[in-house]
Amino acid sequence: MTEKQLALLRRQLLQRRRQLVETHQNTNRDIGELMDAPKDPEFEEGAQTALTEFTLHRLTDSQRREVEAVDQAIARMDEGDYGTCADCGGEIYFERLQALPFATRCTDCATMEEKRRGIGVVANPGTL
Ligand SMILES: [Zn+2]
Repeated sequence: MTEKQLALLRRQLLQRRRQLVETHQNTNRDIGELMDAPKDPEFEEGAQTALTEFTLHRLTDSQRREVEAVDQAIARMDEGDYGTCADCGGEIYFERLQALPFATRCTDCATMEEKRRGIGVVANPGTL
């Protein structure tokens, strides 16, 4: 990977991070508005609250995980490990990193990991 490509990906990562944090702040504001909003009397109160909390929890949880992934990718850039597959040590191609700047595995290893997980679910139906 060239210095120019690396700089481009770093910019992408920082931009994504800012986006996520801004969305997160907007979400927090939305929560505040929901808390203040008068309850819909047509809707059972408990069910409405549970549904709202569930949706917001899922959203902020996945946002937090993505921010962590972005931070880890930037840390790997600083250490010079960025673009190296965590499994086989091979190169992660620029095209893949452009689509997924915080990828930690090359296409082959990521596909293998997905297959492994897929088989795991089928082999252990009791865990579902
Ligand atoms: Zn690999």
